[in-house]
Amino acid sequence: MRTNAPAVEERETEREPELGAGLLVDFLNTLDIEEGTDLLDDAAAFDAWCDTHAVSAGDRAEAKSVRDALRSFLDGESPSLPSLELETTCGDRGVALRARTAAEAAVASSVVLSIQGSMGRVRLCAAEDCRWAFYDRSKNGSRTWCSMGVCGNRQKARTYRAKGSPDD
Ligand SMILES: [Zn+2]
Repeated sequence: MRTNAPAVEERETEREPELGAGLLVDFLNTLDIEEGTDLLDDAAAFDAWCDTHAVSAGDRAEAKSVRDALRSFLDGESPSLPSLELETTCGDRGVALRARTAAEAAVASSVVLSIQGSMGRVRLCAAEDCRWAFYDRSKNGSRTWCSMGVCGNRQKARTYRAKGSPDD
């Protein structure tokens, strides 16, 4: 006797979030210091964000505490992360973490990057009024600004002004 429920196939077509630097950086940038906006305060905007990243929104308060803890970790602090249950799964390429919500995906991405030894390349822009998260792909891994063209030049201009230009 046959059943016609394609349960297995349906499961396989489920979208999985792509864990890693891209997702983590995007998640950290749901807080925009320069614009003074927080995407996590806007349910509809956050839902759209989650849809793009193939995760569910989950609890927004939890997402916010994970994000803020990760941001302060990147600032050199040792915050305690909210404890989340991360599922594991066996795939073709080994054992992997599985994340469903945005908060889980951000933590799982951080774990993956930490194991790969590249968590240190996730940074917050050094400009106090920017603090945009980025992944440093430079060869020597010493990038300080989200964009040299914007924040790097702004800082250079400030240093120049502080020293006093000849026109002062
Ligand atoms: Zn910046």
